[in-house]
Amino acid sequence: MTPLLFYFNYPSVIGIKCAIKKNEVGIDIKITDVLTPLACGFLVNEIIKYLVYQKSQIPYPYNWLQTVVARKRKSMESHNPQTTNNLLVERHYKITSAAYDTVEEIMSNIKTEFKDSIQYIKEVLIIFGATPYTPKEVFRINVPVLQENHIEANHIKSMQKSQQKILRDLFLSQDWLKAMESNFPTTNMYVMLKKHQEDLQKDESLFSLISNYNIPTNSNCVTINLDYTNETGHVCCSNIAVFNDSLNVGNKCPQIPSKSSDSKELWYQAKVYLKGFKDCYINKVSATELF
Ligand SMILES: [Zn+2]
Repeated sequence: MTPLLFYFNYPSVIGIKCAIKKNEVGIDIKITDVLTPLACGFLVNEIIKYLVYQKSQIPYPYNWLQTVVARKRKSMESHNPQTTNNLLVERHYKITSAAYDTVEEIMSNIKTEFKDSIQYIKEVLIIFGATPYTPKEVFRINVPVLQENHIEANHIKSMQKSQQKILRDLFLSQDWLKAMESNFPTTNMYVMLKKHQEDLQKDESLFSLISNYNIPTNSNCVTINLDYTNETGHVCCSNIAVFNDSLNVGNKCPQIPSKSSDSKELWYQAKVYLKGFKDCYINKVSATELF
């Protein structure tokens, strides 16, 4: 089963332009549907899930990681847990479980950042390397000005379809496929956001301000340009009232700072990072089968 098949099912309406430099690849993705902050956060997270597997930082697709961790946790909660005395299996479960929790925490905070950030996000960096300053490969997502005056709940269904098209077109583009060919040993994955400087650093935020960061020159960098223009034609939500407050999708509109604002754009780095890991085989059986 390959996750790509999922994306083959949807016809393409989004054009892609690509430009290749030395060790830098640029992939432009034209987005025609309304792109809300939450929808953009979702796109970023799907790209992260795809990359952690394609770049061999987790040994199986993200959905499978999620399945095996959930299965083990359910078994541990049950009255009759499956116990194993195999220390290797237990150790591998701990590594797998920690990796899963880390990626989930990063993705959950990305969604929050997109949804709630008063200062909108300009760029997302997904960095693979021992440190962010010694990257093996960097994936940069250029975030357009998002459609902030919409009620997220009104767009969830249409965005899901359009997101699948966007992801399918990205993951099947020649430059992306080429970028997936290069591989490196398991390393770390760091995530950074470039935002306008916030007056108050939220203590609970996973992303904390770091001193100036530049992608080291000569590092392999794949840039994804989300090409979206905030069209005034999308006024769908202005006349629609949402009465169901229980919809837990956030109806709050982030406020984009005015262009005259002299606030600086700065990098915020996630306080946690993924430590890549390989599968563990015991008598030719994956440890995940023995959890
Ligand atoms: Zn709308």
